Amino acid sequence: MGRLVVISNRVADPRKTAAGGLAVALGQALEASGGLWFGWSGRIAEGGTPGEGEVNRQQAGPVQLVTVDLCREDHDAYYERHSNGVLWPVFHYRLDLADFDGGSISGYRRVNQLFALKLKALLRPDDLIWVHDYHLIPLAAELRAMGCEQRMGFFLHIPLPPPLMLAALPEHEWLMRSLFAYDLVGLQSEADVTHFARYASDELQARAEGDHGWHAFGKTLQVQAFPIGIDVDEFQALTRQREAQDMHDQLRREYARRRLLVGVERLDYSKGLPQRLKAFRTLLQKYPENQGSATLIQIASPSRESVDAYASLRAELESLSGAINGEHGELDWMPVRYIHRNVARKRLPGLYRAAAVALVTPLRDGMNLVAKEFVAAQDPEDPGVLVLSRFAGAAEQLKEALLVNPYDTARTAEAIQRALQMPLAERQQRHQALLQRIRTHDVHWWRERFLRALQATPAQEKTV
Ligand code: ADP
Repeated sequence: MGRLVVISNRVADPRKTAAGGLAVALGQALEASGGLWFGWSGRIAEGGTPGEGEVNRQQAGPVQLVTVDLCREDHDAYYERHSNGVLWPVFHYRLDLADFDGGSISGYRRVNQLFALKLKALLRPDDLIWVHDYHLIPLAAELRAMGCEQRMGFFLHIPLPPPLMLAALPEHEWLMRSLFAYDLVGLQSEADVTHFARYASDELQARAEGDHGWHAFGKTLQVQAFPIGIDVDEFQALTRQREAQDMHDQLRREYARRRLLVGVERLDYSKGLPQRLKAFRTLLQKYPENQGSATLIQIASPSRESVDAYASLRAELESLSGAINGEHGELDWMPVRYIHRNVARKRLPGLYRAAAVALVTPLRDGMNLVAKEFVAAQDPEDPGVLVLSRFAGAAEQLKEALLVNPYDTARTAEAIQRALQMPLAERQQRHQALLQRIRTHDVHWWRERFLRALQATPAQEKTV
């Protein structure tokens, strides 16, 4: 294999554990090929985006990290307004929350062009290029327009919605056509692949070719599902470390007489947090034996606070958890502990392991890694139960979880009750099956499968 070049909105130093499983997994492939990781630096440049040749360079072992600063206007248009204000909600089926008028297709395109220009100067002819996520969909088309002929792959970490929802994007044809500049597009789930197939045939008049190919605009694009996994070994090692153990022991002591339920995510409207709190309230009302016992620790870390939809969600959650505590709380017990803060990655496995039940109930999610982390952190002798939304990409794989429709509050409450009551033998059986699945399909399997498929794509005419 030639040198691997990874491009994503943010760049992480793969040697730092805080970077997380994906950075570690990509880091391994980058290290093996002496690769390059390119993206935004996370910094706003005062006085204009730096010119063509200006980049920040850092060496992380054999891996080169190259980043670009953006000026405030470019950053707001490309990242805040278009990626997060338009693409994120539409791709998560929330047309009602997309700010189409506030979006900036020109800013989005301008930054993709700028990335392409700066990256092109660093590329070698036999590089293998792997672009990540919705911020950078048109990057390959920009690189091709500048004459780059390397093999290029793209992985979408979020869901791909059905064609009629995509069609709500004013520039959907341009965006989807630009995918054909890649050789391979990876999606999280088979449902996403079905949506792509329908869009490609109905809107782009593409023709299916072979098992995974789509022919249009004079070239063939391969499209396949590559469900992303976690680094199970790394996460289990983290579970054995002191920070996680301390967290676990502390929670077990504090909640010795109670049953712990846990939810962990960024505060985002795709995660189904109000619906989850309502299901938990129904649980307390319908099954009074949980009164004084079932305690939900809900961690929702701050995220994209400048977007309006997030501020109103935050207010709704504060009011709901206050109402549940007011209705059900006792002097020595509060049913909901809602925490609007980040938890250190090293402590998370202890929190997961102390919980009898995890509530992972997004309204829509590309994959959801918290579900997999929860499984990895459990004690196989006495594992907790995963309650998982059928609308998370992970539901296609994690069939032994208790699958729920998060919009159906009553049935979700029933499933939570079933999880709390589940006999040990059934918990062990389900956990064993889930653990085996996430271990076989871990993040290394994901990376290798994608890169092998990318290298196997047929050589062809590169311009679109
Ligand atoms: P998303 O990418 O939409 O945020 P995922 O579940 O796929 O959702 O991945 C989230 C990652 O971030 C997981 O690795 C999880 O451990 C971590 N994470 C999520 N919420 C928090 C939090 N509140 N504190 C610390 N880590 C978190």
